[in-house]
Amino acid sequence: MVTDDCPKCRGKRTIMEKDGTVHTCFDCLISGRIDQHDKKIKSAEELRIKL
Ligand SMILES: [Zn+2]
Repeated sequence: MVTDDCPKCRGKRTIMEKDGTVHTCFDCLISGRIDQHDKKIKSAEELRIKL
């Protein structure tokens, strides 16, 4: 279920540009709507895999 609390991404937390690039919704990121702690854990795991 998507919460439509952001007019830019409509609750999806990601925005797709016209060229097809998908990136995090900066409005949600700044407003703290995105769970940054969860993202940090994922990036840390990715770093460990790469190292
Ligand atoms: Zn948003």
